Amino acid sequence: MKSIPQLEIWFVTGSQHLYGEETLRQVADHSQQIVDGLNSSAKFPHKLVYKPVVVSPEAIRNLALEANNTPSCAGWICWMHTFSPAKMWIGGLTSLKIPMLHLHTQFNRDLPWDSIDMDFMNLNQSAHGDREFGFINSRLRKERKVVAGHWQDTKVQSRVDAWMRAAAAWKDWQGGRFARFGDNMRQVAVTDGDKVAAEIRFGFTVDGYGIGDLVDSMNTVSEQSIDELIQVYLEEYEVADELKPGGARAESLRESARIELGLRTFLEAGNYKGFTTTFEDLHAMPQLPGFAVQRLMADGYGFAGEGDWKTAALVRAMKVMAEGLEGGVSFMEDYTYHLAEGDEKVLGSHMLEICPSISAEKPRVEIHPLSIGGKADPLRLVFDAQGGSKALNASIVDLGDRFRLLVNTVETSKPEPLPKLPVARAVWKPYPDFHTGCEAWILAGGAHHTGYTPALSPEHLEDFASMAETEFFLIDEETTLRGAKKELKWNDLYFHLAHGLGHT
Ligand code: MN
Repeated sequence: MKSIPQLEIWFVTGSQHLYGEETLRQVADHSQQIVDGLNSSAKFPHKLVYKPVVVSPEAIRNLALEANNTPSCAGWICWMHTFSPAKMWIGGLTSLKIPMLHLHTQFNRDLPWDSIDMDFMNLNQSAHGDREFGFINSRLRKERKVVAGHWQDTKVQSRVDAWMRAAAAWKDWQGGRFARFGDNMRQVAVTDGDKVAAEIRFGFTVDGYGIGDLVDSMNTVSEQSIDELIQVYLEEYEVADELKPGGARAESLRESARIELGLRTFLEAGNYKGFTTTFEDLHAMPQLPGFAVQRLMADGYGFAGEGDWKTAALVRAMKVMAEGLEGGVSFMEDYTYHLAEGDEKVLGSHMLEICPSISAEKPRVEIHPLSIGGKADPLRLVFDAQGGSKALNASIVDLGDRFRLLVNTVETSKPEPLPKLPVARAVWKPYPDFHTGCEAWILAGGAHHTGYTPALSPEHLEDFASMAETEFFLIDEETTLRGAKKELKWNDLYFHLAHGLGHT
């Protein structure tokens, strides 16, 4: 995917002077071995960087300030190999502005039952050292992830991996820019929201543009670059005969290529990570961008329709989290239902813009009328999404006083043959069942627009919400309607108390 830099996660080990030089040397050596071992075996998406063991308030605070100011540093992993009196950590932890994971581990896996002596006991103290560290974080109400277990355990590594992916997406949002061509779809509520509040809470900005700005960019596209892009289309997709060079509607494919190249130039020039369009504001655009949007999403851009900047930003974040994982990430909409009793399903799609990264097959490029918006027939990629796995839908809603990140896990299936449906689609059953899943989602105010992915688990999004200090509301196998209703009310209270006066 484009524009996701290789990031660093700093591995920070705490101790104190009392143990003497020899013990501190061993602490440093063990810490280094853990970092090297994880870098070589854990297949983490980003590199762990060993930092010298910290034993004083000054060293801890300076390291926190250095981390904040290091552009490649996306997070801290902290571990207390020995006891590290935690008042020393207050200055550093209150200064630290990047995500933190507390790894509650131990260098050795097994206790050496026959040889254990007091030297061993002095060195291997994370069982109580990490509790002292945990206390001060709880006392500071510091958001962090705690992962407990031996560092070579693959379950432990997988939980660290999920957090690392969320930290990369969080980093990506900070200072990130999203372009909005046209405004919100008129009168629609859930896609709108407070962009000032979003920038304060999430760190990204949303820039509005008139569609004429995009048309200007399209007008700079050369005929030769269109010719070259048409060749790419012919190689990568099943292009309908009427759209191929020489076909009756070949000009529409060229027009779509012009839209793609114009969009791409515009987004690259502004360093944008995602964008929105709206079919109500097309003016000089000949057709609603469908195929072009699908290809840009596949390259890593966040996108959502109808001016929905929150979902566009979320899709981008999910793409960063899912980098290198199987399954893809797409903008999605709960479109229509199959309501046979006991076999209820959702048919998810959009007018055009579903990302081919979730496709189970070679997508087809087709042209059909849109039947809304009154423009020329738009091109689109048509395909079935992969079925037979777990996936999830995620949505950010603006509740006025705060944002809520909702996630619903789903079981996907292969769509029935849909010979007359001219858009890409996915089919799923929400967990824990259709009725509870939909009722809880609607009570929580979840949008019809989502980020959809089989590549991520709720843990990724939960870690991400924690970094944003934003409510995370999960609907999964364990959800009951009664429990969901209570949780929503409790969350209202908690976030009102925690953020009531607008503290960030
Ligand atoms: Mn929509």
